[in-house]
Parts: sequence; C-alpha cells; structure tokens
Amino acid sequence: MVSKRYNFTVNHQWAREMVMSNDYGPLSKKRLFTPGPTPLYQDQRQTCHHRSDQFAKISLECAKMLQPLFGSVDLPVMLSSSGTGAMEACLLHLTSPGDQIMVCEAGKFGQRWLAMAEGYHLKSLVCQLPWGRSFSPEIVHSFLSRHSKTKPKVVFIQASETSTGAFHPTKEIAAAIRDYDPEILIVVDAISSLGAHEMKMAEWHIDGVVSGSQKGFGVAPGLSFVALSERGWQHCSNHPKYYFDLVREQKGQKNGQSSWTPAISLIMDLHRVLSAWHKVGLNVIYDYHARGSRATIAALQAMELDLFAQDIPSRSLTSFWVPSSVNGIEFLDHLKKRYGAVFAGGQGALKGKIIRMAHLGYFDDLDLISGIAALQMSLHNLGYHQGECGLQGLMRSLRQDE
Ligand SMILES: *Cc1c(COP(=O)(O)O)cnc(C)c1O
Repeated sequence: MVSKRYNFTVNHQWAREMVMSNDYGPLSKKRLFTPGPTPLYQDQRQTCHHRSDQFAKISLECAKMLQPLFGSVDLPVMLSSSGTGAMEACLLHLTSPGDQIMVCEAGKFGQRWLAMAEGYHLKSLVCQLPWGRSFSPEIVHSFLSRHSKTKPKVVFIQASETSTGAFHPTKEIAAAIRDYDPEILIVVDAISSLGAHEMKMAEWHIDGVVSGSQKGFGVAPGLSFVALSERGWQHCSNHPKYYFDLVREQKGQKNGQSSWTPAISLIMDLHRVLSAWHKVGLNVIYDYHARGSRATIAALQAMELDLFAQDIPSRSLTSFWVPSSVNGIEFLDHLKKRYGAVFAGGQGALKGKIIRMAHLGYFDDLDLISGIAALQMSLHNLGYHQGECGLQGLMRSLRQDE
C-alpha cells in the first residue's frame, strides 16, 4: 500500500525568514480576484464515458439549463476550447472570406475580434472608443450612418469588456443597429458577462452569443458556448471548417452527443453550478452580481480611489486607477506576496495604471471583504492613506442591499 506522508515538523529557517521578510508565504491562502479564471464552485474532477446514457443526459440537461442564460430559441452548443474558440467558431459560421464586417472596439477583447477578422480575410470597419468607455446606441447608430456606403454584414461587440471593466449595453445597441438596418447580424462576446448580466438573444434580436466556463460560471477553463439565432443557423458560410463545425455539433448535441470527446469533467461541474443557479433563480444570480458590484464600487469610493470605467461599470468586475503616489506593479506584487490576493492589472497601455477586481464565479460577501481588506492594507503599507476604510464603504453598501 502506498500511504501519503505528511510532514508537520517546523522549518525553522523558513519561520525565521517569514518573520524577517514579513512574508507568510505558504501560510497565506490564495484568493483569485482575477476576471478569469475565477474561484471554482467545485474542485472535484469527475469523469464518465461520453457515449453513455448517463453522460448524454447530463450534457443535454446542461444545454437546456444554459439556454435561459442566453435567451436563445435553440439550445446553445458546447465546445471544448477556451472562450476565444467560441468567438472563432461563431465568426467562421457567420462570415465568408472577403465579407465586410464592423467591430465595436474599446478594449483588448474588441481588438481580438479585429485580429480574428484579419486572420480570416474579412474587411473590418472599426467603431472605436477610448478604453474604459461604454458604447451607447447613439454612438453606434451615428457611426453606421456616417459610413452608409460600407454596409457591414455582421457587427461584433463585447457585452462586458473585461480588459477595462466597462459594460456595453447590448440590448439597446442591438435595437439601434436593427433600427438602422434590420439585415445586419449582431454577435455579442458575453464571455465574462453571462451569469452577471441578463442576456435575451431572441427578444433583443441578437444573432450570436458566445461565452466560456471560467468566468461567470466559476468552472475551470476549457469549455465554451455558442448560441445562434434562427437566421444565424440558416446562414451558410464559405469558410472551411472541421472541428468547429457548429451545424454538425448542434445536430449531435440535440441528443446529448458531441462529435468529439467533450470536456466531460467540466460539463459535469457546469451541471452542478447550473442546477444550483436554477434552484435559486437566475434573477437572484443577476441581482447578486449587481449587489457585489455596487458594494465594491462603494468600497473604492470610500477609499477615494477613482473608477476607471465610469460610463457603465460591468457587474463582473470593477476597475480603478492606481493612485498617483503608488507604483501599480509594486501594488499588484504586494497584494500577491503579502496577502495571497491575485488581482488583475491593466493590459497594454494601461499596465501599471489600473487594477481590476472581479466579483465573478464562486464568491460571497466575505470574499469581497477579504479583497477590499487586501487592497486597503496594501495601500496603507505603500503609503496611501486617503479616505475612510474601504471596508466601511463595502459593508454599508452590503447592509443597505439586504
Ligand atoms: C476572457 C475573455 C475572452 C477570452 O477568453 P479565453 O477563454 O481566454 O479564450 C474573450 N472575451 C472576453 C470579454 C473575455 O472576458
């Protein structure tokens, strides 16, 4: 028999260093405040055979439980890939080489649509806003009017732009695009917004929505989802495709069968999360994220920190400017080393300038408290003492929302 050995002896050298460096190292619990991967609802990996009746049932139930999160007429298709794979599958399904498309870009993930379109030889019209801003229906409508000579076949946008923490109001934007030209297809990257923000594809006339397991769902990375509208499914593209053939996938998945070996353990984890969500009700889940977002914003404001995405902050994460007296790289490093708290910084030109705190996946009030406490204590250690204690702002907001 192989028995596991545990070592409970004290490592004096390490203990001495710990006191000297004020670094509790292996004693500190790792907490993820990053917008993906997010804390897991389940950490037990299970598996079974994917051609079994048991798995077919789980898979089909997953798709059925996902459907109301997309608000789609047909069942969403599950793919074994990260979110970007679902973006690519959706783009390949709805476009042909040489097509004119439009991308609303105000962040790194908007840029990803553009890079992908370039890779597949599409012509892109780019509606751009400074990072941190949210698109409005007026901005998108007037951009389309100003470019009336170039008619896009598809408009691609994010719901929650995770690189900045801004939310683009997709329902209203979709209505503005429809109003301008009802033939234009609309695709939304809802990778970090599903679960936190409501999505009603059919009602809002959206043709494609993509998402992934490791953000709102609190499941490990590796599973992604695509839902299409009726006209989205009818669409015929000339792009070659094989693994990401959505038509073939949809046919099989209607019977709980994927064409390829699916990400079995992730689908089983997702099944548990979705069952729990439906038990409490999706509206409760949306409100829960809204409440977490309000409390985080209240905490940052109490600490006199400036929000980065001011137009419409996403419910999935909150971003704020690093105070000018603090070095942003050092701040992130201190949070991680001293408190085991992993936050996301800014990307590209925003590196070192902003911090992003996610309230997404498996989180509760005490997680918010520990995140804000880590920010508060780190700022204090780095010489920033403005405002009142962030925890006071946080708890006041949580109490008001009871
Ligand atoms: C995380 C994320 C992606 C990319 O997903 P991967 O799983 O890393 O491929 C795309 N868009 C948004 C908005 C995201 O948050």
